[in-house]
Order: sequence, then structure tokens, then C-alpha cells
Amino acid sequence: MKSYRKELTFNTRTRRAFINITPEVKRCLAESGIQEGLLLCNPMHITASVFINDDESGLLSDFEVFLEKLAPEKPYEQYRHNGYEDNADAHLKRSVMGREVVVAITKGQLDFGTWEQIFYGEFDGKRPKRVLVKIIGE
Ligand code: ZN
Repeated sequence: MKSYRKELTFNTRTRRAFINITPEVKRCLAESGIQEGLLLCNPMHITASVFINDDESGLLSDFEVFLEKLAPEKPYEQYRHNGYEDNADAHLKRSVMGREVVVAITKGQLDFGTWEQIFYGEFDGKRPKRVLVKIIGE
């Protein structure tokens, strides 16, 4: 069995952002040389998500509105976590969007449905944050 590990880094200019990281993940898969197996991708931070959905700008905007309704950034004082930090909303948003994705690798490709794309969801950005890509298989 082969094993591959890589860290990607993202540094968003805004507090929140959705980035389609499918091209970067595909590059990792090609670099790994693995043809059959599983790929895991997760942020190494607790205020960011990796998730799979449609790369459609209306939908991404809907996610932003939906998450702001569930866990509004402000007022900061509404959260017990805030004090030393102001990112309670980011922890909550990340929990809703999930931590990681696992994708089947078949014939050297991400074995996706038609519209599936991998996104990095940043909820407390403006600093470098790492995303792990781990691939196992043969
Ligand atoms: Zn925090």
C-alpha cells in the first residue's frame, strides 16, 4: 500500500471565504501516483471546513447567508467563547459545514458525482491556515 501526505496553505483576505480547492487536490492525487484508494482532506484548524458541494456562486452566497443566520458573527458579546478571541461564530459555522471529506480514488481520478467539487470554507481568515491531504491506496 502506498501512502501520500501533503499540507496546502490558504490565507484569505476576508474573514470568511469559500475556495474551490479541487484543482489543488487533483494535483496531489496525480503527484501521489495512487490509482485505487481513498483520499482524505481536512483543515488543520477548528474554524475552517472542507466540504463537497456545487461550485455555483448563488449557492455559495446562500451558504454565507444561512450560516450568518445560524451563528451571526456579531455582536461578539453574545458568545461565551468570545473574550480573549472573537471567533465563536467561526467554530459554530465550521461545525455545521463539517471537518473533512473522504473521496474514493478510482483509476487515478477523484470518483465524483457530476457536480461534486471540494471546497475550503474559511470562517476566521486573514492568516495562513493549513489543509491536510492524505491519500492511501495502490
Ligand atoms: Zn476560538
